[in-house]
Amino acid sequence: MFNNLSDKLDKALHVLKGHGSITEVNVAETLKEVRRALLDADVNFKIAKQFTKTVKEKALGQDVLTTLQPGQLMVKIVKDELTQLMGGDAEGLNLSGTPSIILMSGLQGSGKTTFSGKLANYLKNKKTKKPLLVACDVYRPAAIDQLHVVGEQIGVEVFSDKGNNDPVAISQAAIAHAKANGHNVVIIDTAGRLAVDAAMMTEISNIHKAIQPQETLFVVDSMTGQDAVNTAKAFNDVLNFDGVILTKLDGDTRGGAAISIKSVVDKPIKFIGTGEKMEAIDVFYPSRMADRILG
Ligand code: GDP
Repeated sequence: MFNNLSDKLDKALHVLKGHGSITEVNVAETLKEVRRALLDADVNFKIAKQFTKTVKEKALGQDVLTTLQPGQLMVKIVKDELTQLMGGDAEGLNLSGTPSIILMSGLQGSGKTTFSGKLANYLKNKKTKKPLLVACDVYRPAAIDQLHVVGEQIGVEVFSDKGNNDPVAISQAAIAHAKANGHNVVIIDTAGRLAVDAAMMTEISNIHKAIQPQETLFVVDSMTGQDAVNTAKAFNDVLNFDGVILTKLDGDTRGGAAISIKSVVDKPIKFIGTGEKMEAIDVFYPSRMADRILG
């Protein structure tokens, strides 16, 4: 995960580690390398620039030039700033409401259906939760079948209505079904398209208005870097979602989406997907991620 970024940051900071004392020029050179590493990771230019500016101010403010181990101090400052950039503290799901309604949004192929299954499985394993999965992709029968396969695999009921082409009606019927059958969490998987378009946005926004979910989650493929961030912005403008799900981190060597998305949409990354299997789900902890990136 993010190996390229880790290697480059390690190299950039390594230079300072060997020095007993350093100059402002050493700091400036190191930060130039840090900025280059972030840009190579597909972090937005402005974010990378602001990041190194903040790190520089903190480094000089904490007397990095006269400290005994400037390299260590710089690593700590960079780590703390990365943690802040990725969201600070971890944020959980809002599971109030009976049932708690979770609406999944995102482009086709982002990993929505897979993640819906992973989340249902994760909640089911908490014992107090009895989730219901809902198939609301009315355009692709294969997507409905896919959710049924996932549901069978994890032993979670899937609600669908193949002849019905109204996703609002399907979601409402699913919620009624959940109430009648003791499901305390409803996870609604919606249709995505290959790119952001008005019809998709109107549809998801109509579902959102009709069912008023406790959690609206935006699912995005981590490997798409700045595109992921732009897509997040488009969905957030319409849905004002509550959190981001970053999938396919197992294949992401760069890390740009993970690093920039929070500061662009000001919404926390809540979970990550780290593989195709149902167990490949983790709560996102910014500090742990920063630790991993900086080794
Ligand atoms: P949807 O169109 O948004 O519902 O996307 P899918 O759930 O069908 O996922 C698209 C593809 O990405 C599938 O082949 C999934 O197995 C794969 N996928 C989803 N999440 C992950 C993940 O975290 N890691 C990896 N490696 N593959 C994933």
